[in-house]
Amino acid sequence: MQRDTQIFGLIKEELDRQRRGLELIASENLTSLQVMQAMGNVMTNKYAEGYPGKRYYGGCEVVDKSEQLAIDRAKAIFNVNYVNVQPHSGAQANTAVQFAVLQHGDVILGLDLSMGGHLTHGSPVTFSGKAYQAHHYGVRKEDGRVDYDALEAKALEVKPKLIICGASAYSRDWDYARIRAAADKVGALVLADIAHPAGLIAAGLLNSPFDHCHFVTSTTHKTLRGPRGGIIMMKNDFENPWGLKGPKGDIRMMSQLLDLSVFPGLQGGPLEHVIAAKAVSFFEILQDEYKAYARQMQSNAQAMATAFLEKGYDIVSGGTDNHLLLIDLRNKNISGKKAENALVQADITLNKNMVPFDDKSPFVTSGIRVGVPAITTRGMKESDMSLIVNWLDRVLMSPEDAQVVAAVKGEVNEYMRGFALYPEMD
Ligand SMILES: *Cc1c(COP(=O)(O)O)cnc(C)c1O
Repeated sequence: MQRDTQIFGLIKEELDRQRRGLELIASENLTSLQVMQAMGNVMTNKYAEGYPGKRYYGGCEVVDKSEQLAIDRAKAIFNVNYVNVQPHSGAQANTAVQFAVLQHGDVILGLDLSMGGHLTHGSPVTFSGKAYQAHHYGVRKEDGRVDYDALEAKALEVKPKLIICGASAYSRDWDYARIRAAADKVGALVLADIAHPAGLIAAGLLNSPFDHCHFVTSTTHKTLRGPRGGIIMMKNDFENPWGLKGPKGDIRMMSQLLDLSVFPGLQGGPLEHVIAAKAVSFFEILQDEYKAYARQMQSNAQAMATAFLEKGYDIVSGGTDNHLLLIDLRNKNISGKKAENALVQADITLNKNMVPFDDKSPFVTSGIRVGVPAITTRGMKESDMSLIVNWLDRVLMSPEDAQVVAAVKGEVNEYMRGFALYPEMD
């Protein structure tokens, strides 16, 4: 067959872009070569509807073993008893938990999108906000931290069936025990969505949700540094509290309901090639080097926070516990949109982001979100962070000065040459 030079040309272009640029998008990372090699493999040819040992197709004996390895490794990483590695994405994982335990019209309670929450936690533009009656809690204006008292008051008022914690743009750790205590007062289940900080939790650097939350979901491609995908976990299986019925009208354990919710509830055949790559990334997380990586992410984020504060930037909550920072640019007279657009001209990628109590629209925003997972993978250390903040500051202070932007771009490109990315691909 003729080689598709167009697409392979674009893949090479994307590799060059990733090599020369400073990647500060908090939800992105750079997988190892072996994770990518595992993803592009013959398992993409295999139909495997069902679960290991219980498939609807023949010839699944090999993919059964690799999916089981992925499950067993995830169990070892997080010390949990139930794992489903089939969700195609983090959004699918969240939807699957909701679909397993909620009926249409049920009440859910999640962190407000504009305060750092995720779309799938009840935003009206998503399935979660259309199928369920969504209510939200927020952060305190004084310190930018989750207001657990207000969360509890809201729970007592609206009586949710499911409380969702976790966020996409929140730099502080979570008090899962506090949330569970509030949930128990109204008989709600708790879902912790650790899509962002999962890697820091895996390394034991942040509070663990598993003893307090009934369900834990995550992406596999953010701090976990695996292929794009989702995962659902439970520390302990339990009988479903509302007598939810399986397809045959029988009362099921929660693990069975979750499995049924992913397949056949929401998805068809699993992506066994991606599941193989998830297994490879879990293998890497089980090595000692990964713990060092996670610690480095945390120190880099803290060093970056210090550098921003020294330049007079306003960090929401004043700092960070994890791998990201949310910066309120209102005292710098530049919108998030303008900042994002100017920085990308200098080969620095990050995203505009709403800040709590933002007075600008989601298309403009008053803030930016800055994350260190990808640059930490490139090999950057604390001492590199002030250099990075200097580049950002120069562009943000003169976003329309083409000379400044071009100068920063040149310095960034030159600097990134010192941090090889996929040298094997040359
Ligand atoms: C990124 C993210 C997701 C969604 O992940 P996708 O793989 O993009 O669907 C879900 N929840 C949170 C909190 C996230 O940050």
